[in-house]
Amino acid sequence: MPNEIDICIIGAGVVGLAIAAELANPDRRVYIIERNRTFGLETSSHNSEVIHTGIYYPENSLKARFCVEGNPMLYGVCEKYQIGYKRLGKIIVAADDEETKEVERLFHQGVRNGLTDLKLITRAEIKRLEPKVEAVAGLLSPSTGILDSWGLMRSYLGRARENGAEFVSHTEVTGIEKVAGGYKVSLKEQTGASSFTATIVINSAGLYCDKIAALAGIDVEKAGYRIYFAKGEYFAIDPRVGHLVDRLIYPVPEQAGKGIHISVNLEGHMKLGPNVKYVDAIDYSVDEADKINFYTAAHKYLPAIQLEHLSPDFAGIRPKLQAPGEGFRDFIIRDEADKGLPGFIDLIGIESPGLTSSPAIAKYVAEILKNNI
Ligand SMILES: Cc1cc2nc3c(=O)[nH]c(=O)nc-3n(C[C@H](O)[C@H](O)[C@H](O)COP(=O)(O)OP(=O)(O)OC[C@H]3O[C@@H](n4cnc5c(N)ncnc54)[C@H](O)[C@@H]3O)c2cc1C
Repeated sequence: MPNEIDICIIGAGVVGLAIAAELANPDRRVYIIERNRTFGLETSSHNSEVIHTGIYYPENSLKARFCVEGNPMLYGVCEKYQIGYKRLGKIIVAADDEETKEVERLFHQGVRNGLTDLKLITRAEIKRLEPKVEAVAGLLSPSTGILDSWGLMRSYLGRARENGAEFVSHTEVTGIEKVAGGYKVSLKEQTGASSFTATIVINSAGLYCDKIAALAGIDVEKAGYRIYFAKGEYFAIDPRVGHLVDRLIYPVPEQAGKGIHISVNLEGHMKLGPNVKYVDAIDYSVDEADKINFYTAAHKYLPAIQLEHLSPDFAGIRPKLQAPGEGFRDFIIRDEADKGLPGFIDLIGIESPGLTSSPAIAKYVAEILKNNI
């Protein structure tokens, strides 16, 4: 690595890679630093791979803005770079009158967020679209889809490299110190330790974003940047159950997640998940004992699913700003100039819909930096 670079992006998840693709330019020395052996091994490859539309989030929040903006951008990226995707559509289903009110509230929230294709549908319409689904009412979102998240990350990295960015794996950022004209970034590599100076540092370290902010000298508790780990487990549905649904089917959301939904990936693999379990440590195991809760949640809207159809699949961990029992928390994306750290860009709490939002977040970061680079 050279002693001086222009932009250091910490973390090669989908967000860091999208930012690299946006900022890379043959006249700039852009480096993506990743401590794992390759890109995308953490949250960006342990998720539902859903292209969300932005229904759930309060209007004017960054989550709403970037999801609504990111949805068509992502379909455009998939088309242009031949990344696998399917615009399946989704239905949020209501089991009773109370849930119908929640579905109606979500419809109005989505409309306030700028969505124009949402439709409230009746039991009969649900039956016509999805004969195996039981619900009294629903909200149809035709623009929800699924994509190949690895394909997306490969494409972002390919574009970044074509424009001169360098990807450095097996290298952990261990220190960040403000120096004249930028930051001294210390590294732990496989072969030892080193450092370089970067004019701009971008913290897109996912589950460890608060640790990186602390390395730069930010008081994480005071700034409200503390990250909680919220595990989301998935159970696979045995393909022998036969054809169940054409669309993604979601229940009404729970306090800290979107509810245990049924989804299909591009290979046709059906799964249920994710639940929400706050945990102290990162561990991707799936607890077989949770199967009964998945069955109970899904059986309510898909009675064809039986307990024996489910088997543990995989888990992901959300980097949540929202403490257990706390209300909505938005993404934090900002230049920390007011904390004495100009050109240090923090991305904190990039949980769902971070995958969908990735192209819009990258554009926003470029906008923040436009006067610095
Ligand atoms: C269960 C679950 C389901 C989800 N479903 C969806 C969905 O369907 N649709 C959607 O839009 N979003 C979804 N999300 C959210 C989405 O997956 C994330 O928002 C997104 O992947 C975050 O990407 P990232 O690049 O910020 O983080 P990450 O993918 O975690 O990448 C951060 C990288 O930083 C690296 N790093 C950390 N510390 C250091 C260091 N000191 N030095 C060097 N490298 C470091 C890590 O190794 C990692 O590779 C889901 C998330 C979860 C957990």
